[in-house]
Amino acid sequence: MKLLKGEIRHIGEGERYMDYSKIFGGGKVICGMSLRNEDAVFPGGLVPFLPKGTKMITPLQTHSPTVSLIREGIDIEVTPLSDAMVIDRPNVCLTVSVADCLPLYLYHPDVPAIGLAHLGWRGLVAGIVENCVKCLSLNFNCSADRVEALLGPSIGRCCYQITPEVAVLFPEDSSELREGRLHLDLRAITTSKLTTCGLFENNIFSVQNCTSCEGEMFFSYRVEGKEVGRMLAFIQIRG
Ligand SMILES: [Zn+2]
Repeated sequence: MKLLKGEIRHIGEGERYMDYSKIFGGGKVICGMSLRNEDAVFPGGLVPFLPKGTKMITPLQTHSPTVSLIREGIDIEVTPLSDAMVIDRPNVCLTVSVADCLPLYLYHPDVPAIGLAHLGWRGLVAGIVENCVKCLSLNFNCSADRVEALLGPSIGRCCYQITPEVAVLFPEDSSELREGRLHLDLRAITTSKLTTCGLFENNIFSVQNCTSCEGEMFFSYRVEGKEVGRMLAFIQIRG
């Protein structure tokens, strides 16, 4: 796994985005995540950043393992009920909202095709990572050994306390005991699932931000509760 750093971009008053377009997708995709933008119009604040005429799709997320195939002209007017999407068209921006959960960006350079998933522990247990790789392969003939993945900001192992009932759902080395509390590592679990699906470790990239530690930059569900704002992760194939 390679560790990368995004670039913070400012658009207008108080609108900030973490831009990963230069570090992921070989210049062929636009991708990133809005940051803690207190007064932002959600999710419209992203619009100035995207190419003119872009359709933005935000699914209704339920921590399910469901992946939606977005087909141009058929699905883009509908809100998918799922936690992940894949597409091979350039004029649609896939988005998921997150606050501690992990946004997983996927890119296959040959088609090209992209995917975006919202990963929490429930989705990981239910197989959302495996479903994303399968969905790319079945619909676009993407071989997993060419797929590239970026793990965006999420709550880190440092802060993600879980119950023993959750810990037993994952391999033993996915969690550790710190001062009597179990901590889960979403990044390690996701990386291990991706390599099991056939991705090369060299094609897996990760940023290191912890949404709970870095409160000035990110919203955190765990720190601030369910009324907290959300960040919007996004990815789009360049036209
Ligand atoms: Zn932390």
